[in-house]
Amino acid sequence: MSLWKHSIKELSEQLHQGSISATELLDDTWKRIDAVEPRVHGFLSLLRDFADAAAKRADESLKKKTGSYLTGIPLAIKDVICVKDYPTTCASKILENFKPPYHATVVERLSEAGAVLVGKTNMDEFAMGSSTENSAFGVTRNPWDTSRVPGGSSGGSAAVVAAGEVPGALGTDTGGSIRQPASLCGVPGFKPTYGMVSRYGLVAFASSLDQIGPFARSVYDCAKIYETIAGHDPKDSTSAKMTVRDLPDYQDLDKIDEGLIKGLVIGLPQEFLGEGLDPEVKAGVLKTAKIMEGLGAKIEEVRFPSLDYAVSAYYVIASAEASSNLARYDGTRYGLRVSGKTTKAMSAATRKAGFGREVKRRIMLGTYALSAGYYDAFYLKAQKIRTLIRNDFLEAFKKCRLLLTPTAPSHAFKIGEKSSDPLAMYLSDIYTIPANLVGIPGLSVPVAFSKEKLPIGAQLLGPAFSDWFILKVGSMLEKHLQLPFQAPVETC
Ligand code: GLN
Repeated sequence: MSLWKHSIKELSEQLHQGSISATELLDDTWKRIDAVEPRVHGFLSLLRDFADAAAKRADESLKKKTGSYLTGIPLAIKDVICVKDYPTTCASKILENFKPPYHATVVERLSEAGAVLVGKTNMDEFAMGSSTENSAFGVTRNPWDTSRVPGGSSGGSAAVVAAGEVPGALGTDTGGSIRQPASLCGVPGFKPTYGMVSRYGLVAFASSLDQIGPFARSVYDCAKIYETIAGHDPKDSTSAKMTVRDLPDYQDLDKIDEGLIKGLVIGLPQEFLGEGLDPEVKAGVLKTAKIMEGLGAKIEEVRFPSLDYAVSAYYVIASAEASSNLARYDGTRYGLRVSGKTTKAMSAATRKAGFGREVKRRIMLGTYALSAGYYDAFYLKAQKIRTLIRNDFLEAFKKCRLLLTPTAPSHAFKIGEKSSDPLAMYLSDIYTIPANLVGIPGLSVPVAFSKEKLPIGAQLLGPAFSDWFILKVGSMLEKHLQLPFQAPVETC
C-alpha cells in the first residue's frame, strides 16, 4: 500500500475517514521495516505484541470516533526511554537484559493518545556520542547514503523516520542528540525547553541537560507529537508547571498565516558562521536567512562571544553528571552482573565488561572533574561558563525573537571517519550544545542538500518557553523550502 510514504497528518486523515485502519497501517509498517532494516539498522528491538494490541485498540476508538490526531499512528522510541516489560538497553551491554517495571511518562501519554509504538531505536551507548557508532549493538546507517553515519546519539530515531519506516519518533537531546541527527538525516527534530517534557522513565545521562523531543517528516507533525507528550508531570521534580496551551503564542497550527514572519527580527550570530563550518552548510543557512527575509523578516547580525567555550564546558558538566548517574550500574540492581570474589571485585568486573570505551572515558573525565582539588578548576569553572553563555543569549534576545544558526558543522560524515578522534566528534555539537546549557528550545529544519545529495539542516533557537513560536515559524519556513524528507534508501 506504500502508506510509509505519508506524513502523520495525511495518515491521520485517512485513519479518521476510515479509508485505512490502524491494523492495516501497522501491517504496512512491518513490511517497510522488514524491507529496509537490513540496510539501515535503526531499531534495536521491535515491540510486535505491544504494537498489535495498540493498533486493535486504536481501530476500536476510531470506529467510535473518539480518536486523537495520533490514534493509530506508528511511532518509534529511542532505547533510552522505558517501555514496561520490554528491553530498554540504552545500546549498552550493561543493560542488555534489562526490562523496566514501568512506562516512561512520554510512553504513557503517547499510548493514551492512541499511538502505536512499534520499536526501540538504536543510539550511542547511554546517549554519549554524535554518530550512533558507540552503540554496543552495531552502527545505524544514514538512509541517504548508507556508508555514512546518521548522526547521534538519537541516530536510530532520525534514520527510521528518514527511511520511511515510521512517520515519527522520539529521541533525546542532552547536547544536540535530536537536532544533529535530524540535520544529518534530512528530517525536522525538536528539542523542547528544559522542563516541558517529563524525564520520568528516561534513563538519565546528564540530568540538568536531558530533554525528550520528537522527529517527524514535517515540523507540523513534530509539533503535534510535542503537544501530546509535553506538560507538567508530578513524577519529574524538574517538570515545568504548565501545559503546551500555557505557552506564549500557543495557537492551532492550521491557523497560522503568512504574516507570522513579517517584521520578525531574526539574529544571525556571527560566531556560528566562522571557522570549522562547511561552506555548503553556511550557504544553506544564508539561503534560509534570505527566504525569511523574503517573507518579511529582518535579519540582524548578533555576537556570541562565549561560543568557543561551550563544548569544553559541556563535556565537563555532562561527564560530571554522567559519572554520578551511571554509578548505579554496579551489578547489584540493574542488568549485567559479572561475578567476583568480593562485592568490589564484582562491581569492577561488571563495569569493565558492561560499559563501552566512550562511556568509560566520560565516567573517568567526570569523576576527575568532580574530585577534591579539581572541582574548582573544572566543574565550577564550567558552571561559570554556563552563565556567560546565558548572558550571550539574553543579550541576543534583547534584539531579536529568534536566532538562526547551522545545526551541525557538516553534513553526514563517513562511518569510521571520526570514531578514533573524540575531539573531532565532540565538535559536531558546537552549535547545539549552548541551548542545552541554558535550557532553551531548538528546532532543526532541513534547508538544503550538498553537492553529494546529503541533507543540511538549519537551527532556530528562541528564549525559554518560546517552543510553540519556534514550531510555528519552522512550519512556515518548511512550506517555503519544500524539500523531500524521504531518503532514497531503496537505491542506496
Ligand atoms: N554528542 C553529545 C555527547 O556526546 C550530545 C549527546 C546527547 O545530546 N545525548 O554528549
